[in-house]
Amino acid sequence: MQDKHMLMIPGPTPVPESVLLAMAKHPIGHRSGDFSQIIGEITENLKWLHQTQNDVLMLTASGTGAMEAGIINFLSAGDRVLVGNNGKFGERWGKISRAFGLEVEEITAEWGKPLDPEAFKTKLEADTDKSIKAVIITHSETSTGVLNDLQTINSYVKAHGEALIMVDAVTSLGAVNVPMDEWGLDMVASGSQKGYMIPPGLGFVAVGSKAWKAYETATLPKFYLDLGAYKKATDKSSSPFTPPVNLMYGLQVALEMMKAEGLEAMFTRHQRLTQATRAAVKGLGLSPFAADEVASYAVTAVMPSTVEAEAIRSTMKKEFDIALAGGQDHLKGKIFRIGHLGFVSERDVLTAIAALEATLQKLGHQGATSGAGIAAASQVFKS
Ligand SMILES: *Cc1c(COP(=O)(O)O)cnc(C)c1O
Repeated sequence: MQDKHMLMIPGPTPVPESVLLAMAKHPIGHRSGDFSQIIGEITENLKWLHQTQNDVLMLTASGTGAMEAGIINFLSAGDRVLVGNNGKFGERWGKISRAFGLEVEEITAEWGKPLDPEAFKTKLEADTDKSIKAVIITHSETSTGVLNDLQTINSYVKAHGEALIMVDAVTSLGAVNVPMDEWGLDMVASGSQKGYMIPPGLGFVAVGSKAWKAYETATLPKFYLDLGAYKKATDKSSSPFTPPVNLMYGLQVALEMMKAEGLEAMFTRHQRLTQATRAAVKGLGLSPFAADEVASYAVTAVMPSTVEAEAIRSTMKKEFDIALAGGQDHLKGKIFRIGHLGFVSERDVLTAIAALEATLQKLGHQGATSGAGIAAASQVFKS
């Protein structure tokens, strides 16, 4: 059936109809007073979302562009950085850093496990001559469904005193608490197709005062992603280059929706979706890939043992028109991932779980009584 496609992947995420309709208008001039007003309003609301008085800048780029901007604006070739790598996106931080000639030291954990904050502590305490310029972390590691303990790692960065803390919050912003100012985060990168409830195409970089100080002496070449130009323009409710005008119509509406819901309510909703999804998966006789204590609120990865992960995904797609994500790299074909980020409600999770249950039955999976997935999810939603 047409138009019944349901996205349960961790990005692009579903987009509300009011956002889609807002985008279905003629673009207006990006230098007009009307558009300037939109930029001003969006910028204020982005600060609200990031819980910051600092700058939040918009780039026409995917999330990776925002990450790259974070590297090239505040660091210089040869700078020593500590990079957390426990999945595809942590690995990407390392790749970007190396591409720009930084001296990268990785702190790794097995995919599916969280980064060990104590490993950061050890490195930072040993750095008595303060040669570490930045600690770079993926908060929610989307490839495995693991939430890293940013708060604890950040406390060690603060004890170090010199290093910047740079964060990929692409699948944590809007789903869990990332209070930029309270924690003193120096750079927070995110992307539109994740928690923002709008289509791909915008990257966001939030920048604190310590990062701006580093900007003054950072020497990596930059032009399109020179955040100084974005700050100057944003301060005047403008943008340095032509922004994706229609996407920003959508963002304006999406941010209003978020404000109407409220930050606490958004975090609670994502927590409930996560708990219900995990309970249901267990009820179905499968195991979530990441442990309960480190579960990402954006995505639940599952490694099935009795049925092929790819058979589950293709049946979900073919029979129910529900998209689940697969595994990346060495987890390709081994796991499937259920996204529950952004414009996702309890009804969506119940639908996806019911379809997953029917899929497992079709594929001959044994080990669960009929209805066990829905029963487990309902139990979470009951409270
Ligand atoms: C999606 C994602 C990104 C950005 O990916 P793009 O494809 O460049 O938008 C970065 N980090 C994490 C954790 C993500 O989930």
